[in-house]
Amino acid sequence: PHRPYIVGNWKMNGSRAMLAEARAIDRAAGRYPDVQVALAPPFTLIGALREAVSAMGVGGQDCHVAAKGAHTGDVSAPMLVDTGADFVIVGHSERRKDHGEGDAVVKAKAEAALAAGLGIIVCVGETLDERDAGKAEAVVSGQVDGSMPEGEAANEAVAAGKVAVAYEPVWAIGTGRVAEVPDVIAMHAAIRARLLALYGDAGAKVRILYGGSVNAGNAAELLAAPGVSGALVGGASLTAEAFLPIVAAAG
Ligand code: 13P
Repeated sequence: PHRPYIVGNWKMNGSRAMLAEARAIDRAAGRYPDVQVALAPPFTLIGALREAVSAMGVGGQDCHVAAKGAHTGDVSAPMLVDTGADFVIVGHSERRKDHGEGDAVVKAKAEAALAAGLGIIVCVGETLDERDAGKAEAVVSGQVDGSMPEGEAANEAVAAGKVAVAYEPVWAIGTGRVAEVPDVIAMHAAIRARLLALYGDAGAKVRILYGGSVNAGNAAELLAAPGVSGALVGGASLTAEAFLPIVAAAG
């Protein structure tokens, strides 16, 4: 019973020339009021994207744990708010891998984002080795326990529907290899169980998105799976032509 949430993660892609794609996505998003549509462009485009669109959400792909200070090259959650973002992705596997971010850092970022008033999408997901070893549920459950925000602000944000989890199996990201639907259902159920343990009944309000090689051809089946409340889309979010069928599949 969640409002479907379809989020494009542009990763380190995008230039001002691509704002036309965002405008086209935004116009179409207005035709699917039952679907919440958002894009997370690189930091450099957040302000311009915010100006260019009206129906959809605009977010960052990361934030620092601190609000300000001597952290060259980093961007804080209040800065994201200032430039027009309404949410931020934290704990993406590419951040965990490329920048050595562990659960404790991801949790601190999630809490910093909520303190700044942003919605959050917290990413979790197992590697292929972990899946092959039969550890996928244990690994992802541990990531949820270690990465999700705690405290009064977190409870309020959860109750307000501002907190989402993205289940993104690392081996499915950018590979064209999608998780099997029964596995997606099982992983989302395992994540839901941890959310209910962490937040009580309000944990039911956290939307759980699937991410990893989602495209026009597989979106309908994935989005129809029990417990899947949306999608976090990488490659197929870079053009309106590729992204809009995914939005339509959710509507
Ligand atoms: P792809 O859709 O390109 O596999 O990327 C998924 C992802 O990592 C979204 O955050």
